[in-house]
Amino acid sequence: MSIFDVQHQDRAHRVIQRSLASGRMPHAYLFAGAEGIGRELLAERLARLLLCGARIRRALPEPIAGALPDGHGWDACGRCEDCILTTAGTHPDLHRIYRQLSHQHPDAEVRKRKAQDLSIDVIRHFVIDRVGLRPRQGRAKVFIVREAERLSDQAQNALLKTLEEPPSDTYLILLTTAMDRMLPTTRSRCQQVSFGLLPIDFVASQLRSLRPGAAEEVTSYLARRSGGSIGQALVQFDDGIHAMKLKWGHQLVTLTARPAGFSAHALAAPFLADAKELARCAAQRDPEITDSVATRASLQVLFSILADFYLDGLRRNLGMSASWVNSDQMDVVEYLGTAMSAGVIRKCLAQIAEADANAGRNAAFELVLEGLFIRLAAVVEGRALVLSRRSAG
Ligand SMILES: [Zn+2]
Repeated sequence: MSIFDVQHQDRAHRVIQRSLASGRMPHAYLFAGAEGIGRELLAERLARLLLCGARIRRALPEPIAGALPDGHGWDACGRCEDCILTTAGTHPDLHRIYRQLSHQHPDAEVRKRKAQDLSIDVIRHFVIDRVGLRPRQGRAKVFIVREAERLSDQAQNALLKTLEEPPSDTYLILLTTAMDRMLPTTRSRCQQVSFGLLPIDFVASQLRSLRPGAAEEVTSYLARRSGGSIGQALVQFDDGIHAMKLKWGHQLVTLTARPAGFSAHALAAPFLADAKELARCAAQRDPEITDSVATRASLQVLFSILADFYLDGLRRNLGMSASWVNSDQMDVVEYLGTAMSAGVIRKCLAQIAEADANAGRNAAFELVLEGLFIRLAAVVEGRALVLSRRSAG
């Protein structure tokens, strides 16, 4: 286990290794980037390195070998007591800060509240009050703050002094997916490190090794869908997204072949049921999420799956090479791409985008879905969209 196990984040490694080499390690970091691309893993490995009692020199891996003149960087030894405790997740000086810690707060009022934000109560009790204490193992203290984008302005303001003048043995690593939710004062007090999305091939290979037995076309579809996030690809795999995709691909073929002979309700109801199933999975991962937020997010996932079919159909229709097209349901894509003109496919995509926007404003999800399927059928049939304002209400 090495800090360099975190791959394809060369910029972050360079920043960290140069700081270590210079002996002027910043006491506050802001790791910014999408979910599931290695920010938290690198924060954990950096914490292990900062707490290690016998850190070692290691040849830098190829992509960052030129970052330092002698081509060597620092890593945790992996064998000392600190390393063993950190790896086991029980080091007393590594503090993982997350919003659900509110349920362990000494104040019963705080414990009762839903932990949708990273509250000032959590920051005060679990960070600010502990920053001044001596490290228990004697070397340093590291705080890893997850979902810093959920810190309120009030909580960020409370944290400013700590970020500005932490005790010399204290390091804070804030993880954020949204730099624009961080106050300029927070940003300016941290060393900012931006993390890039991962190469799709790398995501696919990681997904294959983490979920052995997954079919090749499934891993390759989910890796593309993830946009370069292993975390996203894993969540979608575990939620059974691909089985839903198979089903909805066939429904789109039926709708396109016989646009007059279907009931919008008969499609809307199971579509909503799939969204609710995805919402249930999301609630298992995060019990603080509300039902309507989870359902809306799940609908967006399903809309994007429908859009994938039409986009692939459009690519085939326009004669783009097969390498641009998801190959897991080629029969569906070929059908959509030949049964409809590019113009009709674009109109279908516009209808999905509109339904997506409507679901964002309107909690009457079933009505939005019925409207979508009615309009998709109308577009395919070339009917005038007299309905176009009705179900948006
Ligand atoms: Zn060590």
